Formats: sequence, C-alpha cells, structure tokens
Amino acid sequence: MNKGELIDHARPYYDEYQLSRLEQAVDFSTLAHINQKRASGEPYITHPITVSDTLISWGMDIDSVIAGVLHDTVEDTNASLEQISEKFGPDVAQLVDGVTKVSQARSDMKDMQDYLPKTKDNLSKLLIAVGQDVRVIIIKLADRLHNLSTLQYLPIEKQIKNARESLEVFSPMADRLGMGHVRMQIEELAFSYLDPIEFNRLKILIKKRLGKSTRKLGKIRAEVDIALKEQKLNVEINGRVKSIYSLHKKLAKVNGNIDDIYDLMALRIVVETKEDCYRVLGILHSLYKPMISRIKDYIATPKPNGYQSLHTTVITPNEQIVEFQIRTKKMHEYGERGLAASFHYHEQKSSKNYTEKKNVSSLPDSMSWITQLQEVALKLKNEESITSDQFNIDIFKDRIFVHSPKGDIYDLPENALPLDFAYLVHSDIAKHAYSFKVNSRIHPFDKPLKNGDIIEIVTNKLSRPKYAWRQLVTTTHARNRLNSQLRQSNVVDLITGAANIIRRKKVKK
Ligand code: MN
Repeated sequence: MNKGELIDHARPYYDEYQLSRLEQAVDFSTLAHINQKRASGEPYITHPITVSDTLISWGMDIDSVIAGVLHDTVEDTNASLEQISEKFGPDVAQLVDGVTKVSQARSDMKDMQDYLPKTKDNLSKLLIAVGQDVRVIIIKLADRLHNLSTLQYLPIEKQIKNARESLEVFSPMADRLGMGHVRMQIEELAFSYLDPIEFNRLKILIKKRLGKSTRKLGKIRAEVDIALKEQKLNVEINGRVKSIYSLHKKLAKVNGNIDDIYDLMALRIVVETKEDCYRVLGILHSLYKPMISRIKDYIATPKPNGYQSLHTTVITPNEQIVEFQIRTKKMHEYGERGLAASFHYHEQKSSKNYTEKKNVSSLPDSMSWITQLQEVALKLKNEESITSDQFNIDIFKDRIFVHSPKGDIYDLPENALPLDFAYLVHSDIAKHAYSFKVNSRIHPFDKPLKNGDIIEIVTNKLSRPKYAWRQLVTTTHARNRLNSQLRQSNVVDLITGAANIIRRKKVKK
C-alpha cells in the first residue's frame, strides 16, 4: 500500500483539510523512515501506512489515523515529539507519545526471563497508557495486527515471542475493549504461528464437520426464517463459524471431544429492537426444545466488556443441536467493533473530549474502568508533567489488576477483598457468593487480593448477603450494593415475618 491508495481510502470519510493533514503526515513519516526497511525487504513506510489504513477501516477519527502514520517515528527515527506537536498539533503528539511508551513497556517485558508474571504488570502498564487516552491502545492493536500478518519474515524465536505476547497481552486487550473482530484476527494469526500443526489440524477438522452440517443447518435456517417472517419480524440470519483458536480453547475444556461442542457453527439472528430479540427467543423455543442450562441473557446482563446478545441452544426434531445468537444491529456493531465504535468519524469530537473523559459518557457501564483510569492519569498529568521515566507502574501502586477465570481484567484498590471483586463483576453474583478460589485455591473472605490474581466466585443459590459482610468489603461500590441488598432482604424478611404472624393467627382461629 502506498500514499495514493491510503488517501483514496480515506477520502470518503474526511474533509479536504483533514486529508491534507494526513498527506503531510505521510510525507513527514516517509522522510523520517527513508533508509529503513521492513524484515520483508519492503520500505519501512509501508508499515505505518498499513496501520493507518486499518484505523480508517475501523472508522477512527483523523487524529488517530495521522498518529498511525507517525507512530514509529519518535521511537525509530530522529523525529522528535516537539516536531510532531508543531506540525500536527499537541493531540497527535500525545497519541504518538502514548504509543511509544507502550512499546517501552513491552521491551521491559522482553528482558524478563520469567515471562508470565511480568506480562501481567505489562498489561497494567498498557492499561495506564489507556488511562491517558484509550485511542493509544486502538492504534497499538492496528500496529500489532500488521506485525502479526508479516511475522513470517522474522526468525522463528521472534515469531514465537511475538505470537505469545499477542495472545497474552493484545488479544485480552482487544477483548476488554469489546473489539471482538480484532481479537479474533489477532488470535487466529498468533495461534497459527505458535502451534501450526494444531492450527492446521483444527482447520481441517472444522472444514470436515461443516461440510456435514451446513446442509442440515441450511434447512433449519430456512424454517426459522419463515417462522419469524410470519410474525412480521424483520430479521437477518447468518451462520457464524467458531474461530480456530476459540475451538482450541474450548476443546481443552471438554477433553478434546469435538462432539461436545455445540456451537461450532451457530446461527446469528440480527433484529431491529431489544424487544424483538426476546420475541425471537420465544418463537425459537416454541419451534424447538431449548437446552435450559444453555440459555444466556447477555442483554439483561452484558459481559464485562459490554457484549450483548441472547444465546440459546436447541434440539431439533432430528436431534440436531444448534446454537442461536440473537442481537440487535447496534449490539452486533458493538460486539464487532467495540470501543472503536465510539470514536467513529461520524461523531467526531475534538481530541480534548477524548482525554477529558467527556467522550466516555456514552460508553457502556462495563467500560467505566477506562473513565477511572483516565481520571487518574489526567490528575497525575495536571499535578506534575509525567516524563517517560516517571511512566512507571509504581505511580499506580495503590491499584491492583485482577482477572476472572475467563481472563477479563478488573481493577481494584490495593488490599481489596474478594467480595469487592464479586460486586464489581455483578451484584447478582456477589449476592450468592458462597466461597472464593484464587489461583485455583480456596481463599478466605477476609484475605486481600493481589495484583494478577485469578479469582473464581463460587456461588450457591441459597446463599444470601449477610450483615457480617459489611466488614468484608472495602470499596464504596461494593458497600453501596451490599447495603441496598441488605435493605431489600430486610423488607422481604419483614413481609415474610408479617405473613407468618397472620398465618399463625389464622391457625389459632
Ligand atoms: Mn509499528
């Protein structure tokens, strides 16, 4: 890809002035990288141009696209941040600075012998960079995607390192930002380098399976389509095939038996409104027998990254097991593009809005961690200018980052307790918390969590919030939720108590 093609791709979305800035950035970057080559032998400039093109395809604002073109200049050439700030404005300079710092955080990690524990620290560093401006991570993801797709030119050890880091740091990051499509692209590419034999085996396996089931599935799809149209529902039905990497992960859970995987191919039904989603679910359940334990309402309870959809798995009269995913167009768009969707060029705002938190008002609740980190980062920045050597995890030593068993990341104050985590995940889950497992070991309610812990909440439907828990939460969020649950159960107790008294009186009569 060259400058002309990039500008052509950008033309429909940006105005003349924005395009001229972009052109200027390409010229600046071309000159800066003039004698550099990629491992593939191509001129280096092809890389930043591709990154920038990816950002255009994600619908990012012009400052991000320009920063994409410039993202390697400060780290790899003589260009300085001051120059960039002068030519392209302080907002672009700040984005480039952020991307450079994320790279520094990465090279710290590369020096470490012991890979995993450091990765978690690094993840926190990346999160802090997000705190400055979440667009930094989005640019970084576009950068990583291109590096992964040109990995074949690097020596094998580098391929493995890069692929592992992608799976351990960048795909969870994309997931955390709700960028489902990018996460999948990163995982497929990285996995194909990490374990090419398994990758190809699964690829062939999926192909074989699909050949068998596609025709049967086509029949069901037509049947469902007719039933929904009869109810005047305007729907679009598509097949979605499980990605190779997610199949690989799932197989590990079911001892490698592919027959235990019901969602190798799922039917995705996209509708207009949230109400339609539930109507479709009702109609499906009247047509086929649902597997009760596999009905999931991610609309009422979105996943922590904001993903929304209804999932159900049904058994057809021919004993075929089919998973359906039902969602609105908006949910679908968010599920694929995630946070990037909030920076769409259609709703362009000034960069100031992004860094001063105003932009995130439209983000789903699950993204509130971004707001929090941005606030902290902004506060630090205003107090004293943070130079690159102060950009250190130690500044944030009062925060810890913990993970759910699925790898979702939550941030908590230092010394937070398991119930704080549970209330952060969901108050309905916290309500039924029975015990906790941290890094697979039973963990008492009063023992503080540590950075990098993986926490599993063991629930029991009969378990209820207790007054004693008030000593076992430390965050305001958890305390508020707990108190309101205690009040609620108090009212319920009063009502059942009153009912019992009335009943007893009746019995006496
Ligand atoms: Mn790069």
